[in-house]
Amino acid sequence: MHRMHHAFADTENDPHSPKYDESIFKMMWKTKTIYSKIASGQEIPEKRFTEGVPKWEFFDRFARSWPSRLFWGAAYVGVYYLFATEIWLWALLPMQFLFSPIHGAIINWFAHKYGYRNYEVKDTSRNFLPFDFLMMGESYHNNHHKYGSRPNFGGIRWHEIDPTYQVIKLLNALRIIQIKDQKEIQLPREIKKKQAA
Ligand SMILES: [Zn+2]
Ligand SMILES: [Zn+2]
Repeated sequence: MHRMHHAFADTENDPHSPKYDESIFKMMWKTKTIYSKIASGQEIPEKRFTEGVPKWEFFDRFARSWPSRLFWGAAYVGVYYLFATEIWLWALLPMQFLFSPIHGAIINWFAHKYGYRNYEVKDTSRNFLPFDFLMMGESYHNNHHKYGSRPNFGGIRWHEIDPTYQVIKLLNALRIIQIKDQKEIQLPREIKKKQAA
């Protein structure tokens, strides 16, 4: 679905674009609907979108099952039970359950509406935050749409530090993961020119 977003960004075929939905909730619901269809096999995406994507069918089925959902739900409640010092903190719990879609919606909605642009690309992507500690670097969305396969979303302007990329570099150094194309670590030539200017 994410590859579809890149290929069709801000066109009718984009699975999520603020250009085609009048509210963030409608966009989230559309995203959820398409996600469920792909996950359940009701909708088969074009081959180019699934090629090379690792498939862990057993794990996916387990992760999406109700026992697993209930386990995580109970684990969140447990953390609140142990650590919530005030009663009103419990009001945050529903948000906790929905963290992943909320995170997605913030990027897919706001980073396609507000912020600044380093690149004039064909879609509406923007860098939502100049210092992105809240979204762990994913807010540098205009950079990401320009160079989709760069592991570092930041690094174009001096203030754009991508925290997740620091984790990626650490995991790479520890040989837990391997950054596929070592050249990706080097900045594309165009960026170097931009930084020098
Ligand atoms: Zn996007
Ligand atoms: Zn992307």
